[in-house]
Amino acid sequence: MEKCDDDRGELSLDTLVQEKSGEKPYRNIEGDLSLGLLILCDHAENRIPEEYGTLGLRPEDLHRHIAFDLGAAEVAARLAEALGAPAVLSRFSRLLIDPNRGPDDPTLVMQLSDGLVVPGNVGLSPGEIEARIERFHRPYDEAVGRAVEAGIAAGKPPVIVSIHSFTQAWKGVPRPWAASVLWDKDPRFALPLLDALRTIPDVEVGDNVPYSGQLKGDTLYRHATERGLAHALIELRQDLIFGAEGQAEWAGHLARVLPMALSAGERLHEIEYHGSNTGASMQRRDADIMDDKTRTELEAAAFRRLVEHLRERTDVQNIDLMELAGFCRNCLSTWYLEAADERGIALGKDAAREMVYGMPYDEWKAKYQT
Ligand SMILES: [Zn+2]
Repeated sequence: MEKCDDDRGELSLDTLVQEKSGEKPYRNIEGDLSLGLLILCDHAENRIPEEYGTLGLRPEDLHRHIAFDLGAAEVAARLAEALGAPAVLSRFSRLLIDPNRGPDDPTLVMQLSDGLVVPGNVGLSPGEIEARIERFHRPYDEAVGRAVEAGIAAGKPPVIVSIHSFTQAWKGVPRPWAASVLWDKDPRFALPLLDALRTIPDVEVGDNVPYSGQLKGDTLYRHATERGLAHALIELRQDLIFGAEGQAEWAGHLARVLPMALSAGERLHEIEYHGSNTGASMQRRDADIMDDKTRTELEAAAFRRLVEHLRERTDVQNIDLMELAGFCRNCLSTWYLEAADERGIALGKDAAREMVYGMPYDEWKAKYQT
C-alpha cells in the first residue's frame, strides 16, 4: 500500500528514541468502546533498538518518511483524544519490519527503500526475520487484534480507521491531495468518509491515491477485511502535518469528519464480509472467528446440500464417483454411520444409506443404477 517516495522533508520531531528494555513495541490509548471506533497508526515512530544501530543508514535518514509516517502519530493521538476513542500505535520503525505488511509479504523487511539500500536489512536469515516478527510485528498485530475484540465484546464492532501520511511529491511531481482514503472492497465507511472529507473547504481529497488500499495481508486486510469490520485508511500529506499547528488542525478536521461519516454510513457496526479486490480468500479468519455451534451448523448445511445434490443427480453413477473421486454414496453413508457409532447411536447400515439415497438402497439401485 505504501511505497517509498522521493522526499527529504526535514522534521522537527526528535523521535529517535532508543527503546527501553522491556518496552512494548506498541502504545495503547484507552477510549470509549461504545463509540464503535478504533484508530490505528502503523507507522507511528522511527524507534530502532540500540543493538540494530542505524541499520547502516545515516542518522538523518531515520528522520525521513522511509523510517515512519511523519506527523501521523500526533494526528492519530490527538484525534483519539478529541473523540475519546481507543487507539493503537506502533513503536518501532518500519525500516526494522513493516507492521502494515502480512508476515509473508516480500516487502516485510525492506532491503531497498526509496532508492536507498538498507545495509542492516540485506541478506537477513529467515531466523532474523522471524525474530523481528516475534519482537515487533506480532506484538503490535496482537495488540490491534485485542483492541478489535474488546470493541466487539463490548457490543459495538468498531469501524477501524488507520492514519498514515504520504510525501508531498513523487519524483519531483507534486501530489495535489491533502487527504486521501484508501480502501479495498468494503464501501461502508470509505464512501461516507470521502463525502465527509470533501466538506473541508479548499482541500483536494483523493480516492485510492497515491496508493491503492487493495493489499493482501496489510493491517486493515487482516483486522478489518478478514474480520468483516467496516474500515478505511486515511492518508494525509505530510507537509500539512509536519508541525504541531498542522497536526492540531488535521486532528480537528478528522474529529469533525469522522462522526459525520459514522452517522451517515449504514451497517457500520455489523460484521459483514465484503471480500477483497486482491482476490484472496477470507476462509482462514472465518474459521477462526466462528463459534463451534455455528461452524457445525454450516458444515451440516453443506453436507445436506451435498446429499441433496447427489439425490438429484441420479444420472451420476456410484462407480463413476469411485473412479473419479475415490468415494461414492455408499462411502458417505458409511461415514455417517461411523459418526453415529462414535456417539453410541446404533443407526444401522440401511437407515444410514436411506439417509443418503432418500429411499431404500435397493429401490434406488433398481431405479437408477445402470
Ligand atoms: Zn504509513
